[in-house]
Amino acid sequence: MFTFARTLRLADGILRSSGASRSIASLSALSETHQMLQKTCRDFADNELKPNAAKFDREHLYPAEQIKKMGELGLMAVAVPEEYGGTNLDYVAYAIAMEEISRGCASAGVIMSVNNSLYLGPIMAFGNDAQKKQFGTPYATGDAVGCFALSEPGNGSDAGAASTTATLKGDKYILNGTKAWITNGYESGAAVVFATTDKSLKHKGISAFIVPKGLKGFTLGKKEDKLGIRGSSTCYLIFEDCEIPKENLLGTAGLGFKIAMQTLDAGRIGIAGQALGIAQASLELAVDYADKRQAFGKPISKLQMIQDKIAKMALRIESARLLTWRAAWLKDNKKPFTKEAAMAKLAASEAATFCSHQCIQVLGGMGYVSDMAAERHYRDARITEIYEGTSEIQHLVIAGAVIKELA
Ligand SMILES: Cc1cc2nc3c(=O)[nH]c(=O)nc-3n(C[C@H](O)[C@H](O)[C@H](O)COP(=O)(O)OP(=O)(O)OC[C@H]3O[C@@H](n4cnc5c(N)ncnc54)[C@H](O)[C@@H]3O)c2cc1C
Repeated sequence: MFTFARTLRLADGILRSSGASRSIASLSALSETHQMLQKTCRDFADNELKPNAAKFDREHLYPAEQIKKMGELGLMAVAVPEEYGGTNLDYVAYAIAMEEISRGCASAGVIMSVNNSLYLGPIMAFGNDAQKKQFGTPYATGDAVGCFALSEPGNGSDAGAASTTATLKGDKYILNGTKAWITNGYESGAAVVFATTDKSLKHKGISAFIVPKGLKGFTLGKKEDKLGIRGSSTCYLIFEDCEIPKENLLGTAGLGFKIAMQTLDAGRIGIAGQALGIAQASLELAVDYADKRQAFGKPISKLQMIQDKIAKMALRIESARLLTWRAAWLKDNKKPFTKEAAMAKLAASEAATFCSHQCIQVLGGMGYVSDMAAERHYRDARITEIYEGTSEIQHLVIAGAVIKELA
């Protein structure tokens, strides 16, 4: 439940709000709390993110001030219990918030998503009370951000082939290896790191650790120069004889692969939300432009071929949104949701790619230049089909589940 203070903060956001809100049709199925959260996030995105998103992108600028404010609004730990500094809402709320924030800025969206589901998610699900207090609370309030280090230069999709090692020596684990593509790597105060504690057991020998920054033997590699989500950092984490206290083991030794897979199931709901935000922003831009742009004596929105694109975009978004909310609802109700989260992520990321592509087409030449957000949405959309499991991996997850259900 909301604390009174948070409710007030959200209500305050609503009172200060201005501008158009989305059609009541897509709001009507949501509870009052969800609607209130949606509106607060939407207003925050319109006022604080949208006006700055092009600058974050152009200058590779981490949106520090906005992330701090998102922490104050409770958005950096939407589903984390209140006793650890979180907002204590459900995953439907998280999916809604992710969409609205990403509609304003996809970089802010991924920073939020990694902190919420990939960093705090496993700590809240598998950590003990001391770990939750030390590595949860400061990250829930927006005072710090965390990251999740599973991928390596030699393996991404094949996460079970991790070559980073953690060897127990006395009361310490000695960590050696390199993690690749780590979102929030530069700004993080701590990382959830996966390493093998027993190679002979393959993926069953992987363990998860909470590794704070500043430890001897823990350095960062170069910042990647990316196609999109350029306001978020992506870098290598390098461990060379890095000693970590054995109390920083998350769960038990050998539980790491399970922790990673469960974390990614939930994370995919967040990425589906991010993709929906990019798709929705593309649709809104296309409609606004088509209404104003004249060709052959009338707005292009009156041309049936433009209407066809608008209809297809809206259909893709609404379908993916329903899949996303369904996956979140299943998780909230403690029902299996692995297949549904994969479906949501696949449908939403394809919707983002489709809608941002169509948006450029509707804008014509103006879609191709950086004066308008269309080209940024197009670049931002692409990553949603790659991280937290590529589209090919989502197909494998879905097919595996369907065959198990029906065969
Ligand atoms: C910007 C960015 C941010 C990221 N953030 C993080 C992060 O915070 N933490 C983290 O741990 N990782 C992160 N990643 C890594 C990301 O999750 C991986 O890039 C992704 O899982 C794919 O792994 P790969 O790049 O090694 O590609 P590969 O696994 O080498 O795949 C290459 C191609 O082969 C296909 N393929 C692989 N296996 C199969 C199969 N069995 N069947 C069919 N096709 C297959 C893939 O779909 C893909 O098309 C990030 C990546 C990027 C680009």
